[in-house]
Amino acid sequence: MSTILITNDDGTHDPGLLALKRAVEKLADVIVLAPERNRSAVSHQITMHKPLRVKPVVLADGTPAHTCSGSPADCVRLAAGGVLGVKPDLVISGINAGHNMGVDIYYSGTVACAREATINGLPAIAFSSVYPHRATAPIEEIWAACGKIAATLVSNVLQNGLPRQTLLNVNLPDLPYEQLKGLKITRIGSRSYKLEPEQRADPFGQAYYWPMGDGPFDDHDEGTDVGAVAHGYVSITPITLDATNYDFMDELSQRVHM
Ligand code: MN
Repeated sequence: MSTILITNDDGTHDPGLLALKRAVEKLADVIVLAPERNRSAVSHQITMHKPLRVKPVVLADGTPAHTCSGSPADCVRLAAGGVLGVKPDLVISGINAGHNMGVDIYYSGTVACAREATINGLPAIAFSSVYPHRATAPIEEIWAACGKIAATLVSNVLQNGLPRQTLLNVNLPDLPYEQLKGLKITRIGSRSYKLEPEQRADPFGQAYYWPMGDGPFDDHDEGTDVGAVAHGYVSITPITLDATNYDFMDELSQRVHM
């Protein structure tokens, strides 16, 4: 029997994690190690200069799990290193509260979990969906849809693996399963945010900021993650670790000389 590590960036007690676990626990042995609190948008942060604590917890379904005091990627590094007594064969993260599409993949702790697994030679899949408070259908139905998709993809990846240095980034629309249009294999799309940090004053008159803004603003181009989800499809983006701009290498070599 294979072992699947389930993790996330929303914290061990996030109901999206439990929904993902329930969807795949019949397919393999499941171990859970996730941050002890919400660590969304910490990207691929890892801990180097202080110790990490791993503690047992019980999930809402009564099953054992573990929390970690570190980042999402720390959880994967610890579990891939065997601290839970068994090394995973596959890492899945999610179901994240909020989509991770376009440029989000660089901010996302959910995607970073999958990326860290890939760095350590493990196949990995990240799952993200709508923010529960913004869902237009009951969130349990949306998670159930995600669970069905997750079970299909997990079975496939356990059987066939993934190419070297490749993870899958999966985003689900705000729809119950029966209303999904289908699956689309996508590329990373165009999503942007308007930077409008809000300045306020603390009780001592010192400025502080809410570093947010407006957005996201998406181009719903055919073939992209944001386009697929906007049109009711499950988006599955294969992402590689190699971020080299090969097209620019020749021109760059002409430009720069000693
Ligand atoms: Mn999150």
